[in-house]
Amino acid sequence: MTWRVTVDRGRCMGSGICTALAARSFVLDDERSRAVGDGSAPGESVLDAADSCPAGAITVTENGRVIGPRD
Ligand code: SF4
Repeated sequence: MTWRVTVDRGRCMGSGICTALAARSFVLDDERSRAVGDGSAPGESVLDAADSCPAGAITVTENGRVIGPRD
């Protein structure tokens, strides 16, 4: 399995929701978030962050298939 967490920094508005929900997976850098995942399976908190991002900037994929944000 290959997982990938990405943040579209062009869409991110720096709300900090993702860093609050999943502090080990996102970091605010110059008022924009970036993912700092190590390629391991995303935990529930990462998927929650993708669901909660007000800008829809977070995408989580598993073997190339989008699994977050969830519907
Ligand atoms: S929740 Fe979304 S908009 Fe807010 S900092 Fe994270 S990526 Fe950016």
